Amino acid sequence: MKISADSLQNRVALITGGGSGLGRAAAKLLAHAGAKVAILGRTQSELQAVAAEINGSGETTGEAFAISGDVTDMDSLCSAVAAVEQRWGRLDTVFANAGVNGTWTGIDDLDEADFESTIDINLTGTFRTVKAVVPAMRRAGGGSITITSSVNGTRMFSNTGASAYAASKAGQVALARMLAVELASDRIRVNCICPGAIHSEIDDNTERENLASLRPAVEFPEGQIPLTGKEPGTAGQVAELVWFLSSDASTHTTGTEVYIDGAQSLFQG
Ligand code: NAD
Repeated sequence: MKISADSLQNRVALITGGGSGLGRAAAKLLAHAGAKVAILGRTQSELQAVAAEINGSGETTGEAFAISGDVTDMDSLCSAVAAVEQRWGRLDTVFANAGVNGTWTGIDDLDEADFESTIDINLTGTFRTVKAVVPAMRRAGGGSITITSSVNGTRMFSNTGASAYAASKAGQVALARMLAVELASDRIRVNCICPGAIHSEIDDNTERENLASLRPAVEFPEGQIPLTGKEPGTAGQVAELVWFLSSDASTHTTGTEVYIDGAQSLFQG
């Protein structure tokens, strides 16, 4: 690994959705960089497995612990932050990453409940996460919040049917920009990452209904991702960006989106 093992020493990180995909890869990389890492999510078995991987690994200098929590439940987030402070005395790095694809379908089939559920987890869940962590981050003297948005809803609009998802991801960008200004005087930086297609477990949890007829007929000639052809990015590549935004390599970077998509969204937008 290219990242130095003491670049996040003495930092305490909280990662939501840390049991799989991008969250798991970031947890492992931030721990490798020396951070103590609290991994929050809904599935205790996944979280325990990631924590065990970090704690049992000779490769990492950090420590990890698993916290059950749900980003739709403010109390569980506040309890998680209290548990982190009690254990390690501070919180200075947050990766607000939990999210779902939800239901991808046309407006006629998209129920209000499906729309609300996606917004509740992805957008309001990010708001709740930030609201829960900011007091602790102020006590720590500042830090970095990185939010996982997406190319969908920000630079790419060709995944027809992903309206609720795209709306939630666009909302995260606006929220991050507003909070970057508001929290600058607290020395809290707030940024979004916007991944394109990345290998992870997210597709297993997507409801796709009647999409074929919604999409205009378009054929991409030579793969969809200019940098790699058909090959999606990896969670490890995204983790390196999360490390950058969490570290002292990005102390003047706030209120911005960073795209990590091999130029997919410029080509497919
Ligand atoms: P994933 O399904 O592996 O990870 C999502 C994690 O969030 C899971 O561990 C899940 O249990 C957790 N989660 C879901 N709802 C939750 C809730 N209410 N409370 C707490 N945890 C919850 O998928 P991933 O690809 O790693 O997704 C992570 C983030 O990346 C999401 O926000 C997603 O929208 C975003 N994203 C992914 C891609 C991609 O291609 N994989 C692209 C762009 C953006």
